[in-house]
Amino acid sequence: MSNDPAPEDYITPIHARHPFRDRIDPTRFPDWGMEPDSAYELLHTTLMLDGRETLNLASFVTTWMEPQAQKLIEETLPKNHIDHEEYPAASLVEEACVRMLGDLYNAPDVNDVVGVATIGSSEAIMLGLLAHKWSWKARREAEGKDTTKPNVVFGAETHVVWDKFAKYFDVEMRKIPMQPDRYTISPEDIEPHLDENTIAVGAVLGTTHIGEADPISDINDLLVRVKSEKGWDIPLHVDGASGGFIAPFAHPDLVFDFRLEQVWSINASGHKYGLVYPGVGWLVFKDRSKLPEELIFSVNYLGGAQPTYTFNFSRGSAMVQAQAYNFLRLGREGYTELAESMLANAKYLNDKLVESGKFEILNPGLAEPVVTFRIK
Ligand SMILES: *Cc1c(COP(=O)(O)O)cnc(C)c1O
Repeated sequence: MSNDPAPEDYITPIHARHPFRDRIDPTRFPDWGMEPDSAYELLHTTLMLDGRETLNLASFVTTWMEPQAQKLIEETLPKNHIDHEEYPAASLVEEACVRMLGDLYNAPDVNDVVGVATIGSSEAIMLGLLAHKWSWKARREAEGKDTTKPNVVFGAETHVVWDKFAKYFDVEMRKIPMQPDRYTISPEDIEPHLDENTIAVGAVLGTTHIGEADPISDINDLLVRVKSEKGWDIPLHVDGASGGFIAPFAHPDLVFDFRLEQVWSINASGHKYGLVYPGVGWLVFKDRSKLPEELIFSVNYLGGAQPTYTFNFSRGSAMVQAQAYNFLRLGREGYTELAESMLANAKYLNDKLVESGKFEILNPGLAEPVVTFRIK
């Protein structure tokens, strides 16, 4: 009598199977498949060669969510978010998030706020600037003026997506260089670049480099003055990719939002301090009039017109739902507590770096939980 299993019951150990013996040619579409656990193990171990996400402090992107959020994400992965007919509830959740952000950013009338969930701030910024390009064009055409030379004004402290917008959408880029030891722009820097063809000015709430904010309220004052003096109605787009989920909670007295007359649109990255995994950003317009009708493609469901304004079509609903989870789960209270906790950690690290005597902190004001320093 033998305990040996019958040969047909023997399961080849995973690492002895053909995918782990034979070379997989990455230039050829595979002829044959493999067992699911082999495919999983192969990719799982390959991806272990990457850095560990939780140790990646460089891209500001969320690496941890609560188990309940993960569960919701798993449940909503198969939903195609764009299909408002089939998934009206999923799209209503997006609409609610947009309104909540309109409220957070102090829109004059939250019921008149329009906006959209995007893949990230990059898509949001391009869509926002595109809307302003069309508004500018409509104003120019109404006055019977030339519409061939649009320009956009922003500083060198902006993210590469601002350059991309200018290039992709054929708008002249007026990029203001930084001064030594100054990493934000001022109204004085901006004014000489403005003219009747300026479609928008960009200001950053939390720059990619050091996390500081441009003087948004002062830039608004400039644009209000230019409007009354020259008649140019130039919108201000606030890039709140990182600051959009910090400033309202950590610095409630900082006025950067729709309370300012020329702030027509704001973007924020849900996957940065919105605390959702990569794949969600937000674009919010102050009111419906700031998003030209021609750009909205209407999808009808349940008798109502659902405006869609996106570059992408099909996408998973999961990260939008995960954002809604955070809004409900955390509220202003939770986001504030987390922002304060992150800022305290950043301050601790800053203090230790200063104590060492070897480093100089570039953003001692600590507008955001971003630590930037240089060797003395
Ligand atoms: C990260 C970042 C972006 C780009 O945002 P994504 O969500 O990664 O597309 C744009 N602007 C600023 C200021 C950023 O920090």
